[in-house]
Amino acid sequence: MPTDPAPAVPAADVLAELGALRGADAPTRGGRTFAYVYDAGLEGLDELAAAAYSAYASVNGLDPTVFPSVARLENDVVGAAASLLGGSGAQGTFTSGGTESILLAVKTARDHAKAERGVTGPQLVLPSTAHAAFHKAAAYLGLEPVVVPVDRSTYRADATAMAAAITPDTALVVASAPSYAHGVIDPVPEIAAAAAERGVLCHVDACIGGWLLPHLRRVGQEIPPFDLSVPGVTSLSVDLHKYGYADKGASVVLYRDAGLRRHQYFAHAGWPGYPVVNPTVQGTKPAGLLAQAWAVLRYVGEDGYTALAARVAEASGRLLAGLRATAGVRVLGDPSAGLVAFTVVDGPDGEPGLSLLLHLADEMRERGWYLQPQLSFDGLPPNLHLTLTPATVGQVDALLTDLDTALHAARALPPVAVDPALAELAAGLDPSKLGPDEIEAVLAFAGLTGDGGLPARMAPVLILLDALPGPLKERLLAEFVGSVFRI
Ligand SMILES: *Cc1c(COP(=O)(O)O)cnc(C)c1O
Repeated sequence: MPTDPAPAVPAADVLAELGALRGADAPTRGGRTFAYVYDAGLEGLDELAAAAYSAYASVNGLDPTVFPSVARLENDVVGAAASLLGGSGAQGTFTSGGTESILLAVKTARDHAKAERGVTGPQLVLPSTAHAAFHKAAAYLGLEPVVVPVDRSTYRADATAMAAAITPDTALVVASAPSYAHGVIDPVPEIAAAAAERGVLCHVDACIGGWLLPHLRRVGQEIPPFDLSVPGVTSLSVDLHKYGYADKGASVVLYRDAGLRRHQYFAHAGWPGYPVVNPTVQGTKPAGLLAQAWAVLRYVGEDGYTALAARVAEASGRLLAGLRATAGVRVLGDPSAGLVAFTVVDGPDGEPGLSLLLHLADEMRERGWYLQPQLSFDGLPPNLHLTLTPATVGQVDALLTDLDTALHAARALPPVAVDPALAELAAGLDPSKLGPDEIEAVLAFAGLTGDGGLPARMAPVLILLDALPGPLKERLLAEFVGSVFRI
């Protein structure tokens, strides 16, 4: 039901309504939600970020000649990123998040390839574990993605295969540090060298790791070279709203120099309004997001980030040891820190058990923990994914205890399986030709009623999704989310 915006509501009531709505959400503090949220567990940080946002809430970041303090804040934040990530001579931009940083890096590479090398049918070479945002960028900006399978045992990009995928039309080669899905660092020096040898740009997606890895190095952890100081790396993205612990809407994209960054900018004087120069996707830009990120960076400080990284490393180490000691659990790859993906094996043949895994996720959710299910892809096993933060440290033992109980409970449940009739029906559907009735029927079969509500247990839905061909899966997901946002 649409709410009627007409009657004026007193401020206290408005805030009470928001508070009540938040009650249905996963908690963002306390260390039990292992995806989407980054909790530094630092006293006073949330209050500072909110106050800094407020101080700049009405300022428009669109025009630094009218609001010069916006340029000062952005230069400080980008400068901090460049000095942390080896960018002597680098220039960059503050953006709304990792996706926007990636969109801009891909646009820059596309326009650079066209201007410098005459490439008109640009390709984007990326490992199969690269973040979906690169596929989004390719779709938005008209590049052809060239996906290269990763090593099946380490989950890291295969540098030789990546090099072999480079053609005269390649605009950009991508490596992750680390990948979101498995938390492992790609062989950046080898990939960047192969790109440089062909005169092609190379982007390092350090969205999640960029603010963590340098600090892990400071506490003595072995971290391979991955940043802008690596020869051949020409751009890098790092999210401040992840391990920078800024509020949502804060990321930086860096380029090796101003000449390359120029291809990111959009300028337009051919209309009767003000002369437009937009460094990013947005026109009017919320300066509050920049101000809160700036404030958080200053408040935590370099030693503060190192101390927080040490806590993440401690949480990761304890969790990994506990997971590896749990019968039937297999950690995927050798995660560098912060992220952990594990699968569960079922039966004597030791195959990853999707039904068991999904039951486990549901059982954990019932016990108040959110672990993120990731489905199988291109021969890589389905798994549960955890993002660790400093607030996790105090929760690891309780998590492992509950995981053990939940795993026993999950094993006792009858396996979920896809109805063979539905699987057959789904396999015969052409996703581009589906009508509303067919969509509704398949969604209903999966337990998704079309009113945007989710069933309490997600295993039956996810097992079906896992079995569907990719394009059909994508179509159904889009329809489902469309049903969530229906007024
Ligand atoms: C989070 C993330 C992104 C996308 O960033 P958003 O801030 O969610 O838009 C891209 N790459 C990696 C590795 C990430 O972890």
